[in-house]
Formats: sequence, C-alpha cells, structure tokens
Amino acid sequence: MDKIKMTTPIVEMDGDEMTRVLWQWIKDELILPFVDLKSEYYDLGLVSRNDTDDQITIDAANAIKKYGVGVKCATITPNADRVKEYNLKEMWKSPNGTIRAMLDGTVFRAPIIVNGIKPCVRNWVKPITIARHAYGDVYKNSEIRVTKEGIAKLIFEPANLDSKEEQLIFEFKDGGGVIQGMHNTDKSITSFAKSCFEYALSTKQDLWFATKDTISKIYDHTFKDIFNEIFEKEYKDKFEKAGITFFYTLIDDAVARVMKAEGGFIWACKNYDGDVMSDMISSAFGSLAMMTSVLVSPQGYFEYEAAHGTVQKHYYKYNNGETTSTNSVATIFAWADALIKRGELDSISDLVEYGNNLKASTLETIESGYMTKDLKLISSLENITALDSKEFILKIKENLDKYYK
Ligand code: NAP
Ligand code: MG
Repeated sequence: MDKIKMTTPIVEMDGDEMTRVLWQWIKDELILPFVDLKSEYYDLGLVSRNDTDDQITIDAANAIKKYGVGVKCATITPNADRVKEYNLKEMWKSPNGTIRAMLDGTVFRAPIIVNGIKPCVRNWVKPITIARHAYGDVYKNSEIRVTKEGIAKLIFEPANLDSKEEQLIFEFKDGGGVIQGMHNTDKSITSFAKSCFEYALSTKQDLWFATKDTISKIYDHTFKDIFNEIFEKEYKDKFEKAGITFFYTLIDDAVARVMKAEGGFIWACKNYDGDVMSDMISSAFGSLAMMTSVLVSPQGYFEYEAAHGTVQKHYYKYNNGETTSTNSVATIFAWADALIKRGELDSISDLVEYGNNLKASTLETIESGYMTKDLKLISSLENITALDSKEFILKIKENLDKYYK
C-alpha cells in the first residue's frame, strides 16, 4: 500500500522505562508501516530532561502551541530515589505539570470500553469521561489547628487598602478545632470551562458540570456562573449545531444520576470531586491500563497520553531479560487519537480512518481472546490466550493488516 501522507507534524514526546520500550514497538509495528509519519520528536526521557536542564519539556510544550496536537509517552516524575538512580542534577518537576501549566489545560480521562471486560456498574455501556479542574481549592489551602479560645476571621485586603473585607468564620470558646482557607481565580475557572466546552464539541459528547452552589453561595456559585456565562456567550449555538447539551446540577444529584446513566458524556468536576471521582470511574471500568488521558487547552490544543505511568516494575524485569506482559492499549489509543485529531484538522480522511482502524483492530484483538495478563484477570471471556508485550502488539498488527490488504 501507499503510506498515508501527513501535512502537519505531530508533536511526539518520548518517555521512560517500559512505556518507552512499548512506544518504539508501537511505532515500528503499528504506525510506520502504514503512515508516512511526520513528527517533531522531543525526548522527554529523564536522561534527556536532565541533560537539557528540562528545557526539552518547555520546547515540547511550545511545539504543541505551534502545531496544536501532541502525543506523549509516560515519563518519570523524579523523587529522591530517581535522583540517585539517574544521577540527576536536580529533582526535575513533573513534565505533565509543566506542560499543563504552559498550555493552561484541563485533563480529560476516559476508559476504553471493550467486550469481555464489563464495568462493575452494569448500565455503564459507554465511557464516562472525567474532566478535573486541576487548580486551587483544598489543594492550595491554608490551614490552622486551633487549640485555644479565640476568633477566626476571613480577611481580604485590597492592594490599595481602600475597602478591607472581613467576616467572622467562628468563635472558638470551648475547645479547639480547625480552620481552612481556600481560593480559586476567575482566570483558572474560565480556562477550565472553555477547555470543557472545547472538548465536548471535539468529541461530540454532552457535558455535565456540578458543584454545591446551594450551600456555597459565593465560592461554588461563581463556578456555576462562569460556566453559564461562557456557555451562553460562546458555545450555546455551537452545542446546538453539534446536537449536544450542557447540563448543570448539584454534585450529589450528579453522583446519583451518574450511577444510573449509560455513559457517553463528559463529567466536569471541581478539583476535589475530580480527584475522587476519577479514581472511582477508573476502578469501576476495570483497569488503569485501559484509561486514556488528554490535555486540552482553552485555545483547543490537544495532548494525548495513557493515564498510567512508566510501569517501572515491568521495566526492571525487561532489563533482566525476562518477558513482560505489559498492556499497550492506552498508549496505542493515545497515538490513534492524536493522528485522528491531526487528520481532522488537516482534512486527511485516510489518516482519520487509519486511527479508527488502529483502535478497532486493538479492540478486536482483545475481543477474540488475545490480551495481556492484566486483562485476562478481569475478563469474562473464555479461551483467553495471555500474550507478552511484544506478541500482543504483533497480534494487533495482524488484525490491522486486514484493513489494508
Ligand atoms: P504505573 O507505572 O502506572 O504502574 C503501577 C502498576 O500498575 C504496575 O506495577 C502494574 O501492576 C500496573 N500497570 C500500570 N500500567 C500498566 C500497563 N500498561 N500494563 C500492565 N500493568 C500496568 O505507576 P508507578 O509504578 O507508580 O509509577 C512508575 C513511574 O511512572 C513513576 O516514576 C511515576 O512518576 C511515573 N508516572 C508517570 C505518569 C505520566 O507520565 N503520565 C503517570 C503516573 C506515574 P503490576 O506490577 O501488578 O503488574
Ligand atoms: Mg486520586
């Protein structure tokens, strides 16, 4: 076959450990035989980040701003052990954190649904995508442990000191307690809202958002108001055209409805709700190795990746010459989704079709009983063959080849 041509490069960010090994195999076996891949390559592996004083991460984020679409391999976020292991100059920051801050983006996590691996909630037949606002609230709080009598106040002093605001929080009289101060900014909430609306349009899924505005009449209500204002002004018509809806409700009502829903929507969550709910969703859908993750900026830049890490334990085995059965599905889907998005933006229907074929052949492989060990443990299929990391990718290639005979 003639390889599929691309016009704009994809920003390719390589990573670490077992996922770096899978990355190369995925490219060699599943992408390069079919696509004349145009990519701008950034090595975000820890060695390269250390060699460049992490400049490579900043360059990669800027490249995503330039081209609009990137795909990223899992990377090590260094801790003290890694500083020793890699003889690092510094404990470099999380590349995901750096890129997210530079793109001002929101992370959307969605499970990959496949026959034979049923979610614990039986009515969830379509994926539920969680969007977590990753700024502020309890994650940037100030707390005080109170052990004496006294008065706790909330005080805001304007920079020009013209109209100080003061409110009583609580008067501690008999015994101590705890106090907490939190904040968020209009700018961050606005970016979050825009990223959610953009991603809903991009994936043609309904968007749900929920807070506790009846109790938190200023803090949570501001989230509700900002979402509503932006929707009315900028997205109402676009949503109507796309045939999707924006639905706001209270967080407890949202939780109750989610349990009974069939899925197929995006659930935007405040920071803490998103932290909790994304773990509930990923465990209920089966496996971290079957979760995709995409970072979306309010300008509509997209960065795709797997939700899991570098699978360190498997890598050490691999380095010892042992075979591993590492699941490459989420990384394959990250590549497929990135190429589909590139194809859509550049109007290359062959590329969009290829991405969809790559996803379909991956699912067909699992549905026909060929899978990695982690999936075998949770699958309801009979006659399962557990494959090692490389065999699984080669099996997918067999199925993908059928689309291009
Ligand atoms: P991990 O890489 O997600 O792996 C944790 C465990 O989950 C593995 O040991 C494995 O269990 C299972 N697992 C995860 N992905 C799998 C897959 N694709 N196939 C099969 N099993 C899979 O998390 P970690 O070991 O805590 O972190 C390792 C490194 O990844 C850390 O340095 C961390 O900083 C980094 N990390 C990066 C990202 C990112 O770049 N987005 C995200 C999270 C963590 P078994 O060992 O039981 O088989
Ligand atoms: Mg969590």
